[in-house]
Amino acid sequence: MSLPAARDKFRSFLTRRGLRATSQRLAIFDAAFTQGEHFTADQLLASARALDDSVSRATIYRTLPIMTESALLREVDIGSGEKFYRSNRDGARTQLAQVVCLDCAKIFEISAPFMEWYGSTVSSKLGLTPVSQRLQVSARCDAFRATGTCPRRG
Ligand SMILES: [Zn+2]
Repeated sequence: MSLPAARDKFRSFLTRRGLRATSQRLAIFDAAFTQGEHFTADQLLASARALDDSVSRATIYRTLPIMTESALLREVDIGSGEKFYRSNRDGARTQLAQVVCLDCAKIFEISAPFMEWYGSTVSSKLGLTPVSQRLQVSARCDAFRATGTCPRRG
C-alpha cells in the first residue's frame, strides 16, 4: 500500500470516528507509516516533529491508539514495558511470529501461517474457536556473543 493510499484510508477512518484530520495527526501518520522498522512512541515523536514541529507528545499518545484501531499500524508488545509499533503496509492478515534479539534489541517478524493451523487444530480438539494467538521467541545474538559486535545493533 502506498503512502497516499494509506493516508486516504486513515483520513476516512478519522472521519468515521468524527475526528478531524489535523496536520499534526497526518504528520504522525506519515512518520509512522514510512518507518521501516519497529519504533517506540518517543522515536515516532522525533520523526513526526521533523515533518511538523507543532506535534506534541500528548498528540502522539492520543494518535497511536487511533492508528492501531485503523489497522494501519500494529502494536507489538515484547513484554519489555515499552510498546513498539510497526506500520502495516502490506495489510497482512497472516499470522506473524516475533523473534526478539535480547542482545541487539531488535524485533524480527516472520510470516507464520503454520501457527494459525496449529492454533485452530488444538482449539478444535477442545471444542473451541481461536480468537487470537501469538508466538514470540526471545533469542540471543550469535554474532554478538562470538565477536562482541553485530551489524544489527543500532
Ligand atoms: Zn545481533
